[in-house]
Amino acid sequence: MMPVAMSDAIDNTTTGLTALPDDRSGVAGQARHAAGGRHRVVVVGGGFGGLYAVKGLADAPVDVTLIDRVNHHLFQPLLYQVATGIIDEGSVAPALRSVLRGQANVEVLLAEVTGFDLAARTVQALAPDERPLAIGYDTLIVATGVQTDYFGHDEWAEAAPGLKSLEDARWLRSHILGAFEMAELADDAAERRAWLTFVVVGAGPTGVELTGEIATLAHRVLPRDFRNVSTREAQVILMDGLPTILPRFAESLRRRAASDLRTLGVEVRTSTLAVEIDVGGMTVRRSDRSDAGTAPDERLAAHTIIWAAGVRAAPAADALASAAGAARDRIGRLVVGPDLSLPGHPEVLVVGDMIAGELPGIAPVAMQEGRYAASLVEARVSGGPLPPAFRYHDKGTMATVGPRRAIVDAYGLRVGGLAGSVMWAFIHLYYLIGWGNRWVTLLRWLLQMTTRNRSNRLVDVEHAASWRELRRRGEVTGPRLWERMRRKDGAG
Ligand SMILES: Cc1cc2nc3c(=O)[nH]c(=O)nc-3n(C[C@H](O)[C@H](O)[C@H](O)COP(=O)(O)OP(=O)(O)OC[C@H]3O[C@@H](n4cnc5c(N)ncnc54)[C@H](O)[C@@H]3O)c2cc1C
Repeated sequence: MMPVAMSDAIDNTTTGLTALPDDRSGVAGQARHAAGGRHRVVVVGGGFGGLYAVKGLADAPVDVTLIDRVNHHLFQPLLYQVATGIIDEGSVAPALRSVLRGQANVEVLLAEVTGFDLAARTVQALAPDERPLAIGYDTLIVATGVQTDYFGHDEWAEAAPGLKSLEDARWLRSHILGAFEMAELADDAAERRAWLTFVVVGAGPTGVELTGEIATLAHRVLPRDFRNVSTREAQVILMDGLPTILPRFAESLRRRAASDLRTLGVEVRTSTLAVEIDVGGMTVRRSDRSDAGTAPDERLAAHTIIWAAGVRAAPAADALASAAGAARDRIGRLVVGPDLSLPGHPEVLVVGDMIAGELPGIAPVAMQEGRYAASLVEARVSGGPLPPAFRYHDKGTMATVGPRRAIVDAYGLRVGGLAGSVMWAFIHLYYLIGWGNRWVTLLRWLLQMTTRNRSNRLVDVEHAASWRELRRRGEVTGPRLWERMRRKDGAG
């Protein structure tokens, strides 16, 4: 899409685009709306909820615009494998354009949604060159998901990155691989120990999966590759304030997962709260002892701390809530009606993790909500019977605990170990998008199992240690640092 000067008024009935002056900035802006009379659906977010809504509209007599700030659909359940070097990022992030290539009624726009004008029925967004865009709709489906939340301690983000995006996964891969390189170079025992200490805060599926794979990397994959350091000495800690790991799983599976983690060399610390996190490590406090109020806090020196503990709704939810006057829960998720619409705005549907309520923030919920939203729109547009209120069909839940071990609670079965792992692998490959990605991922898994090696172990001096130096000097932090590295990479 070429930039349009203020005086250029395009009225292109073939593409249905109309460029209008933008009065907010004086810069060229675009209002896009259906010119041919077809019902226009704008979907914000191409994650599980948004993508399944778009796909569900394939045969509906509507024109769909999918807007995302990234150009890919991210298969988050396998992000931990990118972060630990098992698979490459392309396998979990197919381009949205290619996924939707065959669906003629969809256009895909790379832009960041910044606001909503529900009266004018437009979505406001910024193009990558920061040009403001206004995109008109008849029905709006918003599926922008959640982001990492630090329970009021945003300053911890500096020292304890989360795992939500591809950028996070690349960042963590550099942290983790760089830590072993730094341990190899360390001549001070305490410093080496800190480089070899990995703490993951939050013992849900992501925390369990990450620690299982970091421990496997340290204890099984890397030992033969290093000369000065024994990577087997690495301390991998999984920590949670609750008295149990994986609280959504049945007791027997939780016990199994905890025992599998210990076999892999993970130290499981439940009932343990993070009190302070900084670039040198963290301070923790037991929450289950009778002397909890008086016992001294413990300081853990660790150069890699990963936050997998909390989420809150992505900022687009704030914008939508203010535009609609909608109610939100304590973590900013939106309260919706039984048909997933915003109260008072039947033309605005919300799907996925950003909905408040009891349903877990997992992919099947988002996918079913996406499909439901599509069926509702199609019924409204074609005048057919409206579907009944949304109901989630729970097919179960699962998590891996290192290679060849997974726990599965699905279809009435409770399985662990290798059998669980096979089920887990089959289901994840089934939902991974694209046959190419499925084959490549399967091949990587088989290679990893047979050779005990990982193919994505790339790190350089900049990423291994300089980030820490830069942070110490207070020059750059978190995402800004990533930006800076990217610019540097691009420059040369
Ligand atoms: C590390 C990790 C592991 C997980 N493992 C599992 C698992 O094993 N099984 C499982 O079922 N679930 C798992 N989940 C949860 C699952 O991925 C989510 O429930 C699911 O992705 C929610 O879908 P969604 O469409 O609501 O949001 P998302 O999939 O997060 O999609 C949101 C989309 O909105 C876009 N977006 C956000 N803001 C804007 C904006 N302002 N403008 C434009 N675009 C925007 C984002 O770029 C993104 O593409 C995991 C999640 C994570 C982070």
